[in-house]
Amino acid sequence: MSLYIDSASRLHHDQDKSLVVTCPHCLTVAHITQGAVPRFEDLQLYRPKQVGVVYLCDACHAPVFMRFTVRVYGAARIELSPQFAEVERAREKFSFTYVAEDVELLFREALTCFTHDAFNAFGSMCRRTMQAMFADLGEAGKLRLFDELNGLRELTDISPELFSCIRTVLFGAELDARAAVPPLDGYQAGVMLEVMKDLLYEAYVRKGRLQQAIMVRRFFLDETGSHKVTPFVSAS
Ligand SMILES: [Zn+2]
Repeated sequence: MSLYIDSASRLHHDQDKSLVVTCPHCLTVAHITQGAVPRFEDLQLYRPKQVGVVYLCDACHAPVFMRFTVRVYGAARIELSPQFAEVERAREKFSFTYVAEDVELLFREALTCFTHDAFNAFGSMCRRTMQAMFADLGEAGKLRLFDELNGLRELTDISPELFSCIRTVLFGAELDARAAVPPLDGYQAGVMLEVMKDLLYEAYVRKGRLQQAIMVRRFFLDETGSHKVTPFVSAS
């Protein structure tokens, strides 16, 4: 594979056509097209170890920044390593409809930490999110969350070590307020993110959607003045 900037400051990339990333703005997996390339003369003068190139997302046309490592400063071309670093990463998403405001605020910050690879900050924010959920849902709610977490152990193949680590992060402070948050790597944090989404879904989203659906049913019942609810009949 060849990737270089020529003396006219043009970027040549023989695999340009297959350059596809998850756009950090529209979150589509899209091809990106070369936008701005640094000037050859500037690079030759300062010889930075890394070079930044701006691309445009083909789907939403927002700028996508990429960083390449320089291999060689030649007289007529600057060779770059084909491996690039995405400067902005796609944000982790979660639908916060029905989630309590205090909980939402903290979990949004947890997602920001995760997006920036700050996995230990993410762990601490997950513990705070859980504490806000306990405060909001009360003692009975806390016990339900604990059961829910235990249920996940049977549903998934999370290793016993990782499961106990996640439980310590999320519930450790409830048993001992000084219990430290164990250190997390990217994989552990990724699994914890999925567990958190599930707990939030079970505690708020599922209940909220069901209540909403029942309210709509009741509304139609009142509208028609009838106490007979007609079920949907499938055509056969
Ligand atoms: Zn885009």
